[in-house]
Amino acid sequence: MNFQDLNVPNEIIEGLKKQNITLPTKIQEEVIPKMLNGDDVAAVSQTGSGKTLAYLIPLFIKADVSLRSTQAIVLTPTHELAVQVYRQAELLSKNSGSGIKSVLVIGGANIARQIEKLREKPQIVIGSSGRILELIKKRKIQAHTVKTIVIDEADRMLDKYNINGVREVIKTTLKDSRQVVVLSASLSKEAMKEAKTLMKAPVKANGEKEMPSGIKHFYVVCEKREKLIMLRKIIAGIKPEKTIAFINDEQTIGEFVEKLRYHGLKVGGIYGEAKKFERKKVIEDFRRGNINLLISSDISARGLDFEGVDCVVNIDVPEEAVFYQHRAGRTGRNGKSGTVVSIITTVDKKWINRYERALNIKINHGKMSFGKLIEFAD
Ligand code: ADP
Ligand code: MG
Repeated sequence: MNFQDLNVPNEIIEGLKKQNITLPTKIQEEVIPKMLNGDDVAAVSQTGSGKTLAYLIPLFIKADVSLRSTQAIVLTPTHELAVQVYRQAELLSKNSGSGIKSVLVIGGANIARQIEKLREKPQIVIGSSGRILELIKKRKIQAHTVKTIVIDEADRMLDKYNINGVREVIKTTLKDSRQVVVLSASLSKEAMKEAKTLMKAPVKANGEKEMPSGIKHFYVVCEKREKLIMLRKIIAGIKPEKTIAFINDEQTIGEFVEKLRYHGLKVGGIYGEAKKFERKKVIEDFRRGNINLLISSDISARGLDFEGVDCVVNIDVPEEAVFYQHRAGRTGRNGKSGTVVSIITTVDKKWINRYERALNIKINHGKMSFGKLIEFAD
């Protein structure tokens, strides 16, 4: 199937070509017609399988540029992800010459500037539910003209911390004419239940089921106090282009970054507590390659798409299988290959076994030998 078969107009097809995108991914084949048909959609597809364009393309097709009003809202769980989606929308707009405007509406950023941008009447509003709601209440965003609400990283957005904000935003739009689209690499039963309360007659869209096959998984065993040196050994052995390493306890990220920097690594950390401009700088440095190691918490890296991440390290074993899935999914994106290494202590082995079953993957026992990561036959 190609984009023509999906009724994607020529200018968008040509625009996508400029980004070397010529064929739709499976989830794009599924979501595009359903969204064009006006359905409420619940889409599940693995990390890195192209969910962003799966919703941006139909939003572009449906948007009426002659109407200078907000027609779609995209909600994301983090500012960084909102920025990434915004950039993808801007790129598609430029490359296709569609004239569709987007605006980034996120908390912690200058509200006056956002209001200024909203005066240009962008068709697509992308951001966090809190700030979007605030601007709807201030009548800077007209919610009654909104036709589609997209909830990216839906399992996260529909959890107990975020569901109310999402609900509030949806409530401001017109029930009869609105379409709600939720997407994630993992939709738990609870998240699906919440999603259904927001939709009329949802249809399912399934993309890639299995974790990307380009990812090789390992675990290595050491003492807790040896984790830092193990991380350094892994990086020295694999020599990755870019690495994201995850820590369970956000509070310890700063300290870890300091220690690694002391050892001469080009490293930065992203975590909720860091100031917004600091987070932004770290993300930019990592994208540009000024740093090649990013220490992150689970939430911070949700959905982020960095070119060239070929290694993910779990400094701590993730607390749930879905966390493992989303962490690992920062690599092996869009058919590329990558290595995931979990640094564990002996008591953590049970989690490895559990995640192998839950995610249908093989996590090999690895060992550092003569400076290289090798598979250990147990
Ligand atoms: P997901 O949201 O499913 O995790 P993304 O939307 O972030 O994945 O896309 C992952 C990467 O794949 C991005 O760099 C994107 O530009 C690229 N991509 C998306 N669709 C296609 C396609 N049809 N062909 C090639 N690359 C694509
Ligand atoms: Mg995504």
